[in-house]
Amino acid sequence: MKIIYDEKICVRCLACVSESEFGGVIYERGRIFFEETRAEDWNEIISICPVAAIKKVAEATDKAVSC
Ligand code: SF4
Repeated sequence: MKIIYDEKICVRCLACVSESEFGGVIYERGRIFFEETRAEDWNEIISICPVAAIKKVAEATDKAVSC
């Protein structure tokens, strides 16, 4: 799982930071940082964003897939 964050559409409402319980979303010097390895309720954090600036994507596997 990887978080995609679009800084250009983020309005810095900090709802995602408030929703973060375990340091997965940090606000520092006017910027927001995501630590995906933290055990957050990421679906809740993503859904709380009013402008959909946060998205979740599955990590691509580096294993070869045989047909
Ligand atoms: S909830 Fe969305 S708009 Fe608000 S600070 Fe987080 S990413 Fe930005």
